[in-house]
Amino acid sequence: TRLFVDAPLAAGAAVPLSDVQAHHLRGVLRLAPGEGLRLFNPRDGEWLARLDALAKSGGAAAVERQLRRPLPAPDLWLCFAPVKKDAIDAVVEKGTELGAAVLQPVFTRFTDVQRVNLDRLRAHAVGAAEQCERLDVPEVRDPVRLDALLAAWPAGRRLLVCAEAGAARPIAEAAVEARGPAGLLVGPEGGFDAAELDLLRRHEFVRPVGLGPRILRADTAAIAALAVWQMLAGDGR
Ligand code: SAM
Repeated sequence: TRLFVDAPLAAGAAVPLSDVQAHHLRGVLRLAPGEGLRLFNPRDGEWLARLDALAKSGGAAAVERQLRRPLPAPDLWLCFAPVKKDAIDAVVEKGTELGAAVLQPVFTRFTDVQRVNLDRLRAHAVGAAEQCERLDVPEVRDPVRLDALLAAWPAGRRLLVCAEAGAARPIAEAAVEARGPAGLLVGPEGGFDAAELDLLRRHEFVRPVGLGPRILRADTAAIAALAVWQMLAGDGR
């Protein structure tokens, strides 16, 4: 059992557990006081702890010893037009497993999902980080419009725009040569419109990339792009 906790982790520390964590440990995993678990966060690494108390409303664990030191966190951004519930949940879960550091919903012209449940997505990111042995949890950012994303794009970070139309370079070819900070951008089910593609291409940090000969669903495209990029170019650490 592995739990992300924000509290400082050090030998002898008593760490409070949230209601949700206590419910999961008691009701789902059937753990009892005295049993061991692993606690982690990006500042302190991963620690062995022992459950002290478990109640309906919260609990506590006593930290024993360090199992893993803190690591540099990944620095790869996944920007994506929000899609419907199951698909966006999959993007957050698989994106976390594949090393995204930032998950940025982006509203574009043809995005038909207008509301994003950030609490649910943030909870998925925590769950996926716990499962995949990450020491950090990706930041699920508040949604922004495409023009605002581009206007605030940081200097020195390239943006790989997944664009199925036109003569985009295959993503694997762009990735083998690339190192350093990067972001990936995937459009909505309706794709980008021509004006958006023009706007994107006007920015020197934008590189259009292709994901192969078939048109992928937006969630598949996000996962495929991230899988290829982090394997070949690394996750920005
Ligand atoms: N309706 C669009 C069309 O027919 O042109 C398809 C959009 S696709 C379902 C959703 C998004 O996934 C696209 O905006 C793009 O970012 C990405 N995508 C899908 N297939 C791709 C491919 N083969 N290469 C690059 N990007 C792709």
